[in-house]
Amino acid sequence: MDGFESNDGVILIASTNRPDVLDPALLRPGRFDRRVVVSRPDVRGREGILKVHTRKIPLGEDVDISVIARGTPGFTGADLANLVNEAALNAARYNKKLVAMPDFELAKDKVLMGAERKSMVISPDEKRNTAYHEAGHTLVGLKVPNADPVHKVTIIPRGMALGLTQQLPEGDRHSATKEYLLGQIAIMMGGRIAEEMFFGANNVTTGASNDIERATELARAMVCEYGMSELGPLTFGKKEEQIFLGREIAQHRDFSEDTAIKIDQEVKKIVSAQYERAKSLIEENRDTMVRLSETLLERESLDGVQIRRIVAGLPLDDDQPPAGGDDERPQLKEPTVKPLKPILPPITGSNPATA
Ligand code: ZN
Repeated sequence: MDGFESNDGVILIASTNRPDVLDPALLRPGRFDRRVVVSRPDVRGREGILKVHTRKIPLGEDVDISVIARGTPGFTGADLANLVNEAALNAARYNKKLVAMPDFELAKDKVLMGAERKSMVISPDEKRNTAYHEAGHTLVGLKVPNADPVHKVTIIPRGMALGLTQQLPEGDRHSATKEYLLGQIAIMMGGRIAEEMFFGANNVTTGASNDIERATELARAMVCEYGMSELGPLTFGKKEEQIFLGREIAQHRDFSEDTAIKIDQEVKKIVSAQYERAKSLIEENRDTMVRLSETLLERESLDGVQIRRIVAGLPLDDDQPPAGGDDERPQLKEPTVKPLKPILPPITGSNPATA
């Protein structure tokens, strides 16, 4: 850099999350010429990060950091810091001296899906509709091959959503196959289809708007960016991004009107095919759907193990409290004593995957 002699022994380090918009002059030899990419941590990285954040926290004997690391694929460093913080807060809320594994489980759900809004008043009809909608996502999620396992399904409102189906990959996922993406679209369609099938075409709700939006976006990306349609391995449209805002402001169109029509047709073809696929999956498993929806309506939350038991026609293990079941605990508004101080201020991390 200007102002430094080559023998000054000064090393300059800088970081950015927009390497794509850096002035090439900055990157010439002799300037910032070594680049270290810091991506999301893998399982070993997550274990190391968790060790750092739990250093000053009294952990229960049941806490196994490597298990938490394995169960949090896609989490960023900030997500993990948030996870530890939420777990500590949860233990403090119930005056526990040690942070135990269930505290981490609850914290994980909170980081993944947002906080529960148990106070929200929902009509029985709306609740029933949500249960069938979420069961639709869950059932399709279980039936399409190579999809991420369903981690949890809930009809307790979280954040802006009335219900949520959360998938969690088994390991670190760095790329996605066409089969996987098509499966994701089918899963997104599952909610609306369940509403149509069980409540009639005129009683479908606005609850599926986000599913539809994401499915369309994904299908469009498959056509325009990933070359996964009959239009071939081409990209269509260049994104012009506003420097420093990091926001896509204009889609630069580099294709003809004719191609635009073909793109729209391909997008529609992909989404419709997956809609039909999800529809037949739900039709074929109508009994399972009803069982899953009614149990969900009754229990409000089901974890992956419980879902698989219901689908297999096994009775639910009644020794286990319902998933996310902090219901048995005293509902304290305000912790009376704070044995543990939150180690970190809450950090809002980006959520890897939500459904
Ligand atoms: Zn949905």
